[in-house]
Formats: sequence, C-alpha cells, structure tokens
Amino acid sequence: MEYVPITKPPVDQMPVLPNLRDYGETRRHWSWDTVRNELDGVPGGGLNKAYECLDRHAKGDRRDKPAMLWEGKNGERETYTFAEFAREANKAANGLSSLGVEKGDRVFMFLERIPECYFTAFGTLKLGAVIGPLFSAFGPDAVKDRLADSGAKVLVTTPELWSRVKEIRSDLPGLEHIVLVTRRQQAEPGDGIVLWDEVVGSQSDDFETVSTDPENYSVMHYTSGTTGKPKGAAHVHNAIIGQYATGKYVLDLHDEDVYWCTADPGWVTGTSYGMFAPWSNGATSLVYEGGFGANTWYSLIEKYKVTVWYTAPTAIRMLMKAGDDIPKKHDLSSLRYTMSVGEPLNPEAVVWSERVLGLPFHDNWWQTETGCILIANYPALEIRPGSMGRPFPGIEPGIIDEDGKLMPPGEEGNLAVRPGWPSMFRTYWNNKPLYDSRFQNGWYITGDRARMDADGYFWFVGRADDVINTAGHLVGPFEVESVLIEHPAVAEAGVIGKPDPVAMEVVKAFVALKDGYEADEKLRRELIRFSRDRLGAMIAPREIEFVPGLPKTRSGKIMRRLLKARELGLPEGDTSTLED
Ligand code: ATP
Ligand code: MG
Repeated sequence: MEYVPITKPPVDQMPVLPNLRDYGETRRHWSWDTVRNELDGVPGGGLNKAYECLDRHAKGDRRDKPAMLWEGKNGERETYTFAEFAREANKAANGLSSLGVEKGDRVFMFLERIPECYFTAFGTLKLGAVIGPLFSAFGPDAVKDRLADSGAKVLVTTPELWSRVKEIRSDLPGLEHIVLVTRRQQAEPGDGIVLWDEVVGSQSDDFETVSTDPENYSVMHYTSGTTGKPKGAAHVHNAIIGQYATGKYVLDLHDEDVYWCTADPGWVTGTSYGMFAPWSNGATSLVYEGGFGANTWYSLIEKYKVTVWYTAPTAIRMLMKAGDDIPKKHDLSSLRYTMSVGEPLNPEAVVWSERVLGLPFHDNWWQTETGCILIANYPALEIRPGSMGRPFPGIEPGIIDEDGKLMPPGEEGNLAVRPGWPSMFRTYWNNKPLYDSRFQNGWYITGDRARMDADGYFWFVGRADDVINTAGHLVGPFEVESVLIEHPAVAEAGVIGKPDPVAMEVVKAFVALKDGYEADEKLRRELIRFSRDRLGAMIAPREIEFVPGLPKTRSGKIMRRLLKARELGLPEGDTSTLED
C-alpha cells in the first residue's frame, strides 16, 4: 500500500509553535555549545543531571510547579512539585551517603514505578554515584547477573520484589546494603537489610549536589536483550545535553504541557525520556505505575489532560487491537502530539492513529547506546509513515557498506553515526573490546540496517542479525510484518528467515490474530496471497504459522531470534528480558 505523507497540522497553526521550525537552517547552524549554555551547570563547576532536572527549577520560578504527577497501580495519587521532588531526592542522597555510597559507586533500583524509584535515581545522581535501573518483573538470575556485572554496592527494592530474588544474596559479596521501601508491605531490618523509612526518612532535606565532571558516569543501562545477551551501556552526565535538547526539539515540551512517557525506567526510554528530558525542560510529567490497558490508558490521558504522549509500537498495536470504539468513549482532546520509539512503527499504525485519535504517531529512532533520540519525525516535519524521520541537528548518520563507504540514497546498508554527540555511551561495562568493535572507519556501527531517501528521511530495514537472505535477495522483516498487519485479521506478525537448501533462507511469518478471527487454512492461504500481491513472490512469506502471541522483551520488542531458535530447535540463549 502507498502511504501518503502526513503534513499535520500546518506549522503556523500548531497549538504550540514547534521549536524546530526551519529544520534545514537549524541543522546548518547547530551547536551543542549553545545547548550547553541553556543548562545551568553545578555552581562552582561541573555538570550533573540531577542539578539540571531538579535543583535549578527548585530554586527558580518553577519551584511550585508540579514535576511529577504519580498514579499508583491501586489508584493512589501523589503530586510532587520541583521543590518537593528536590527535597525528597536530597533525603535519598543523605540516606545513601549514610550507607557509605560515594562518587562512582553503583546503586541499583529494582522497583516498580513508585515515587521512591525516582527519589533514589536523583539522590544517587546528586551524590555523583551511578544508577542502574532494573525491570521490576525480572527474576533472580536476571537481577543477579546485572548486579554482579556492575559490581553494585546498594540495591533499593521492596519487600515483595526482594522476596522473589533474595536467594541471590550469597552470590553477591560486593552488594553491601539492600534498602527496602515499605510503602506497601512491612519488613524487618537485619543482615545488610535496611529500611527506606529509617535510612532516608529521618534525613535532612538539604543536600548540595556533588559537582560531577561531565565525563563522570551517571547511568548504566543493560540493553533490551533483543538480539543477544544484554550489554551494560554506561552513560555520563554530559548526556543531559542531548536529552535536554531532544526534549525541547523532538518532544516539543513547553511549560504548559502535561507529558506522559509510558516506558519503564528498566529500559532507557524510561530514564532518558521518563526522567531526564522532561525534567531538564521543567515539564510536568505523569508517572503511572500500572501496566497496559486500553481503557485505563485513555482514561489517564483524559484525567490528567495529557498533551504530549510518548509510547511504543507494541502498545500502539494493542490499542489498535482493542478497537476504534474505546477511544471514542474518552475525551482525548488535550492530546496535541504523540510519538513512538523502540521498534519499527508500522505505517498502518501511523495511519490508524491519524484516523482514530486525530493525531499521527511520530516515530523516532535511537538505542540504549545512543542515550538520546538521533533520528526523528519532528513536529514541524512532514511525516512519512513507515520512516523513522530525519537526523537530529548535530547528528550525522550515514548508510554505509562493509568498508565504511557511504551508499547513495535509496540503497540499503548499515546504519552508522559519526561519533561524538554528547549522549553517546562511553563503554560497555566490563566489555571494552565489544565497545571498541562498534567503532569502525570513523563511524559508530549501530547494528541496524536502513536506507535514506533522496530527502534525507531514514527507513528502517531490520537489525543486521534479523535480515533474511532469500535466493540472494535481502529482505527486512519489518517490510513483511508491516504488510501482514495491514490485513484486518492480523494483530501482530514476526518474520524470520528459515534455512532452506535451495534458497538459503525462506521467509516465514508467525502471525497473531485479532479477536474474532479463526486461524484456519483458508485464512492462511488468504494471507499468503495478500502478501504476494503487495510484496511479490520473492519477499512474501512462504510459510505462515498462527500463534497466540509473539515472544517479546519486557520493553515490548518482538524477539525474532527466539522465534528462530524455537523454529530450529536451537538453544534459546539469554532470555532474561523475555516477557512472561
Ligand atoms: P540488544 O542490543 O540487547 O539486542 P535492543 O537493541 O533491542 O537489545 P535497545 O537499545 O533497547 O536494545 O533498542 C534499540 C534498538 O531498537 C535499535 O537498534 C533498533 O533496532 C530498535 N529501534 C528503536 N527505535 C526504532 C525505530 N523507531 N524504528 C525501528 N527500530 C527501532
Ligand atoms: Mg541493540
């Protein structure tokens, strides 16, 4: 299907004028130094994420403005202004300091999206220590591996979550303290276990943020584990420059906005865009602890009058699956701008949201390693459904061949970026050789395959590991999946290359159907015909298997490597991030 570009609405009529009005001009005159000058820096020198996100607003005009609107999974509601938030973070910093946490130490958070998760994060940063966020749904092995690899000194968690993993304790001699947040369940201290209320609750709410060097580590994030064993990407305080700038120009955050990022801090979107981008911009941000539910999510937008919404393709596909009638029952008129990240966003999803919500999802691309958005459909740019958008000013991506040579527009190759942007990761923890291997011929190699069109829009093809070679033809799974989900019966599709003696690989699709459709032979044949008509026999799936759902990471990415391993009866590899 041909997708028409969406220009919406004309720049001059946008409810809030987009910051990036003239993309070309902005790109030509871009300077990271100018962005840096919009930040305050720690008085006396240095740069610290916590200072930019909290302290400077707590001291200034935004002190009484809500920073965090929190809604718990049981419907609890709490609001923290910038001044209150900074005070809570100060208490956390004092509490952690009383446990001996010092600059450079790793403090891991194994928490649900409760306020203490955010207080811990900023308290740790204020101390100059490094945060390591973990998904609250992780099991013992996943938590142990990450704590051991990072050499974490403190783990902040809850009695409920700790009881799930406590057997790991004896394997982690370096883990000195476990801090339990007893917001919902009481616990007893002892044997290295301390209680949040005792350690943090009684502390002073004054703390002077440590003057960290921009190159000091601030956050370490294990990657999503979509293609293999998760790697600990380490970021520095300097990353705030890119996070602030993209918050301003890509998220288009303004003072009157209510922003909602649905991502969990367990993966990088939940920190870069759930914490650093909105709060460095002084925006009000909604944090919802609960999980996905179409009705719940639309109700939250209505209740909090969310204006800017950042979510992910899986969630969008689930909203599509839930049907077009549910959004009609809610007043979603506050929304002015919606974005997506994490996986390729099928063009059908963009068109759907434009039709049903009245707003197209603006796709953007980045990775744990890049620390901030690098390619985006800006508010001011025409959206090309299916494209990731255009490079952020100051970012120079290229489509290159195996020798690092630039490919002409329209041709597919490796997506690479010229190193040196402020938010770039600085190492893979304990794995410098792997880090070094990602830099070749003056490029950072992303591991993704893409193409750029003549107007400079980038189009995702697939992860290098997932690209299928069928009879000498390279096929990106995304293209095939996107066609399949255009069919009204299909909710989700995952496509792999299945080894074949003749064609090397053939395209095989795993398809999950929407409610009310029968997985029978007739539909299977229809889907094959449907894809052939649109893609040609070479690219269309040769085989289709109906499945109840697709294996996904906790951040909602389809794990094609698992589909493939299962298909071939091979070991599944690292499944620590696999959703239940
Ligand atoms: P691992 O590196 O452990 O395999 P991962 O790559 O999924 O996991 P993340 O850093 O969370 O870990 O995800 C970044 C990847 O997600 C990108 O390299 C890309 O493959 C995919 N991605 C992110 N945004 C987009 C997008 N807008 N369109 C297409 N793919 C995207
Ligand atoms: Mg990756």
